[in-house]
Amino acid sequence: MIEATNISKRYGSHLAVDDVSFSIEKGEVVGFLGPNGAGKSTIMNILTGYLSLNTGKVVIDGFDISENPENAKKRIGYLPEIPPLYIDMTVREYLNFIYNLKKVRFPKKAHIDEIMRLVGVDGVQNRLIKNLSKGYRQRVGFAQALVGNPDVLILDEPTVGLDPKQIIEIRSLIEKLGRNHTIIVSSHILSEIQAVCRRVIIINKGQIIADDTPDNLSAALSSDRSLAARIEGDEEEISDAIKSVSGVKSISPLGSKEKGAYDFIITPEDGCDIRADIFRKVADIGGALLSLSSNEMTLEQIFLRLTDAADNDEARRLLGMGNTQADGTCDTEMQEETEEEQL
Ligand code: ADP
Ligand code: MG
Repeated sequence: MIEATNISKRYGSHLAVDDVSFSIEKGEVVGFLGPNGAGKSTIMNILTGYLSLNTGKVVIDGFDISENPENAKKRIGYLPEIPPLYIDMTVREYLNFIYNLKKVRFPKKAHIDEIMRLVGVDGVQNRLIKNLSKGYRQRVGFAQALVGNPDVLILDEPTVGLDPKQIIEIRSLIEKLGRNHTIIVSSHILSEIQAVCRRVIIINKGQIIADDTPDNLSAALSSDRSLAARIEGDEEEISDAIKSVSGVKSISPLGSKEKGAYDFIITPEDGCDIRADIFRKVADIGGALLSLSSNEMTLEQIFLRLTDAADNDEARRLLGMGNTQADGTCDTEMQEETEEEQL
């Protein structure tokens, strides 16, 4: 339904979109996730034909957006980051205006009524847009995107600036629309994308650094099963002892928060469960393991870490962590080989 091939966009000397390709099938609900400045809006503007591209090609349902913009655009409903609302119009007047602008052929009144009902603005249809709350304005933004019944919806950060209740309402609206539309929705908030999308494309510094289901991404990323430990004893002695445990990749001291005890982050080799060995080792050296818990990163933290990576090669490497084949052998020799790969 949407084919982007090697698209690039330059603003002056700044490469905002750098050779991006992806393909989205009919009916998919895909999230564009990335920090501010990653290039999400630029890509969306290119897909919708609002921005020209420097290189590459976008095809919407068989129509090239540069060669056949009218046919391509007809298939797309776009909700830009700042919805193009005319605030001195009433909701109905505005939607009628958009209807005329898009040269829609469906029976006007029935079409607009249906959209207003769907997005929940029928109750405010005769109010001026400038007197509506931000949540309602956003729904009107959705409504204008739906005029003409486009198959594809492109929604740029649709929940920005909304309160939690409005966010939930917009999210459920996207879920509802996802049943019979192809949707791309962007956000810099992971939980939001996770809630509505079955596929996530992570964009960073103008490139795609991951493209997978939310579950796979989270499984791949959380394979870094570090442990947080609080151990009573001598800090250095503990550190040395734990380093010698088979399957331990690294141990980092975090200092002392409790008298006589020290905190550590212990990272195992992939696929190794080192908890029992750590427990025994600490006992062996006469220490006491006061607590040992999973330090699994939340997806938010993983995302931050990814986008903090020096470059996209490093970011991709981080994403590949979970694909390392775990062979179950917790060999200490592996320790040296992988030491350099640590963060
Ligand atoms: P996102 O939507 O992911 O926050 P954008 O696509 O808006 O990212 O921006 C990508 C990069 O391009 C940013 O570095 C931004 O500063 C730059 N940029 C966006 N629009 C323009 C513009 N019209 N002129 C110059 N630079 C721009
Ligand atoms: Mg943006």
